[in-house]
Amino acid sequence: MTDRYDAIVIGAGHNGLVCSALLAKAGYKVLVLEANTQVGGAAVTREFAPGFSVSACAHLLYQLQPEVVRDLSLRVKFASEDMTTIALAADGKHIRMRGDSVEGVSDDDAVSYRSFQKRMQAFARLLRTYLNKTPPRLGTRKLRDLVTLAKLGFDIRRLGKTEMREFLRLIGMNIHDEVDERFESPTLKGAICLDAILGTHLGPRSPNTILTYLYRLAGNGGQVAVPYGGMGSVADEMASTARSAGVTIRTDMPVKRIVVDNGRVRGVETSSGESFESYNVISNADPKRTIFELLGARHVETGFARRIENIRMQGNAAKLHLALDGLPDIPGLMKKDFAERIVIAPDEHYVERAFNPVKYGACSPQPVIEMTFPSFRDASLAPTGKHVLSAVVQYAPYASKEGWSDAARDKFLKDVIETIAAYAPDIESRISASELLTPADIEREFHITGGHWHHGELTLDQFLFVRPVGGAAQYRMPIDGLYLCGAGAHPGGGISGAAGRNAAREILREKS
Ligand SMILES: Cc1cc2nc3c(=O)[nH]c(=O)nc-3n(C[C@H](O)[C@H](O)[C@H](O)COP(=O)(O)OP(=O)(O)OC[C@H]3O[C@@H](n4cnc5c(N)ncnc54)[C@H](O)[C@@H]3O)c2cc1C
Repeated sequence: MTDRYDAIVIGAGHNGLVCSALLAKAGYKVLVLEANTQVGGAAVTREFAPGFSVSACAHLLYQLQPEVVRDLSLRVKFASEDMTTIALAADGKHIRMRGDSVEGVSDDDAVSYRSFQKRMQAFARLLRTYLNKTPPRLGTRKLRDLVTLAKLGFDIRRLGKTEMREFLRLIGMNIHDEVDERFESPTLKGAICLDAILGTHLGPRSPNTILTYLYRLAGNGGQVAVPYGGMGSVADEMASTARSAGVTIRTDMPVKRIVVDNGRVRGVETSSGESFESYNVISNADPKRTIFELLGARHVETGFARRIENIRMQGNAAKLHLALDGLPDIPGLMKKDFAERIVIAPDEHYVERAFNPVKYGACSPQPVIEMTFPSFRDASLAPTGKHVLSAVVQYAPYASKEGWSDAARDKFLKDVIETIAAYAPDIESRISASELLTPADIEREFHITGGHWHHGELTLDQFLFVRPVGGAAQYRMPIDGLYLCGAGAHPGGGISGAAGRNAAREILREKS
């Protein structure tokens, strides 16, 4: 005897939760099966040392779509909001960036930064409109697709002749050339480059890094926040909305396979041998895992399987968590600055040099780092007087050529701490415990192939109409009843909920 549902969602990542909540609100009987003990996928808060908790992967909120907040009536509490980015400089002359203003640079750079931001924000607003739309299918005569396509052309044209040309010129370009032409401050150039490359397998000189920069801005105009209680609190709030709408969420329930009969999905089978029936199976897992591990390539055409196989998704972002006996001393910073976002990317060449080793399977000896001290404003994360450091560290290869042995990981940890110590000389003496998650750990612990931030590189050949691959950008997989709702689908990764919301809308539209 198996249980029957209107929809089964594989994975309780934040996108799976958003999708399930919206389907349940529309009257569907929904089951979510999550492999891990906690809900949230890469948006979880967990204890990494006794008394010390941290957002285990995603730690900064800047892409959550207002449409998702509205549709799910989410209440997110923030420990820090509209944060300043402090870019550390070796000489202690750190710069501060917020919105379109930057302090600590020449007047010329401050003026250039304002005009740069004005243009980038206008382009990002255009992109934002399309984050919440289903990409139109190319080559069809369906009115909806034709209208969306025409509207995209019209929206680009509406930028005006000069800006339209600039948009089309810049969108595939690299961020290095753009910042090098505009600014003199190396620290400013390095910080902008960092924003363009976080979570990617790209360096500042790689094509597409303007696109990735715009994608980051498109979320919330670049405004960054730390949720109170860590990122897990956002996922918990989504799960609570889903449960209130009637969704059943079962954790510790890895799905082993998607059951197919007569060319359409019929349900799923879990690793523990339980079966659940549904004609709609929605995968929050990445596209490769969904097609090769869960569905089985034999159920799709060879050409489609090959396109999925070719998705580039080798993660380069590692996550470092430090339990600290107290805040470190960072010369040039005041105590209140520990509530802000602090980055180490002292110039654009540093960022490019940090990228070089991962091309050959090695770690950056001097990596690029984005740090926060979430316990500074959130006492729930560390014992009184103690603190937590949460850092995204680029670049660490997914496939280390030496293998991720204990020695390789110890060496990388040492290099990361030395890099931080160049700005915070007493950091080492403050550390009581540490956790380093490499992309390989992220793959194992969060079930993301390659440990990739976006479930697939965010480049023009894997974007919009062709995300995850051509012919499947409308959340439907080429087998009846199977959908994708995670970061591997349009528009991509980040805690936005956009893919989950778009997928739910497509499923409901199809059934109406
Ligand atoms: C190191 C790192 C740092 C990041 N930092 C940020 C940040 O600061 N801000 C930001 O906005 N984004 C950040 N991101 C990106 C962000 O975390 C992801 O893009 C986002 O979490 C993707 O959400 P999702 O719901 O689509 O998928 P996921 O979060 O990957 O969730 C997928 C879920 O499916 C489950 N699953 C997979 N297979 C199965 C199966 N067979 N059976 C059952 N369950 C299964 C997984 O366990 C997981 O819970 C970061 C990513 C990384 C790797």
